[in-house]
Amino acid sequence: MIFDILTIFPDLLESPLNESIIRRARQAGQVRIEVTNIRDFAEDKHSMTDDRPFGGGEGMVMKPEPLTAALQSVRAENGVGRVILLSPQGRQYSQEVARELSKEEHLIFVCGRYEGVDERFRAAEVEDEISIGDYILTGGELAAMVIIDSITRLLPGVLGCADSAEKDTFSRQLLKHPQYTRPREFAGQEVPEILLSGDHERIDQYRFLESVCRTMERRPDLLQKELFSKTEIKFLKKHQLYDKIKMLQKEQ
Ligand code: SAM
Repeated sequence: MIFDILTIFPDLLESPLNESIIRRARQAGQVRIEVTNIRDFAEDKHSMTDDRPFGGGEGMVMKPEPLTAALQSVRAENGVGRVILLSPQGRQYSQEVARELSKEEHLIFVCGRYEGVDERFRAAEVEDEISIGDYILTGGELAAMVIIDSITRLLPGVLGCADSAEKDTFSRQLLKHPQYTRPREFAGQEVPEILLSGDHERIDQYRFLESVCRTMERRPDLLQKELFSKTEIKFLKKHQLYDKIKMLQKEQ
């Protein structure tokens, strides 16, 4: 998978792209990540990538020419990819969108700054606009990083069993169960006895119940989309949870 990032602040991405799982995935050739400085494609002698907005008003707008030239250069180098503009006005990012994007071969992220990009660049080149949440960031770089990080961990072979993605929160519409590690007793709190039992069937059942209860308590909206298997429904009924879930689903 190739990720291209177009930015006027390439140094901002230096550390997150060179640590931990992303660094390993890059070294193993599972992902190729290239950062392009839009400023290198500015035509005037001051390397201007932004200008005042037509019609007046606050702030600066990113000029279309350097953005287009940077995009053309990336396409010439790495081929045509899906162009994604990071924008608070885009569709909302989620694990579902991460899964969808992880099936692509080449993503090109355009990081806005200031008041954003000239509308004509957006209209001509952008295929997808993504927001990582209802708040305003200073620029698209951190949003691009969030997306790249969450997609990379979904790619085959990137995660070892030490940090598996299969049972993460949102792998289905359930929050993950609570986790414990050594020591067995900490600050007067014991690890639940069942986790020490070695009985994996009962441990799985306990974790499933914890996961369902936590989701009911914190994110009942998720349960709206969750489909339980026949065995799970039977199990939930046995623990008097199934009717409660049905009620929560109706309330949403
Ligand atoms: N003036 C714009 C508006 O009101 O919609 C906001 C511009 S923001 C200060 C600068 C850039 O940060 C945006 O062009 C976008 O690339 C990025 N950005 C800000 N918030 C974002 C969000 N929630 N998700 C993704 N990108 C965001």
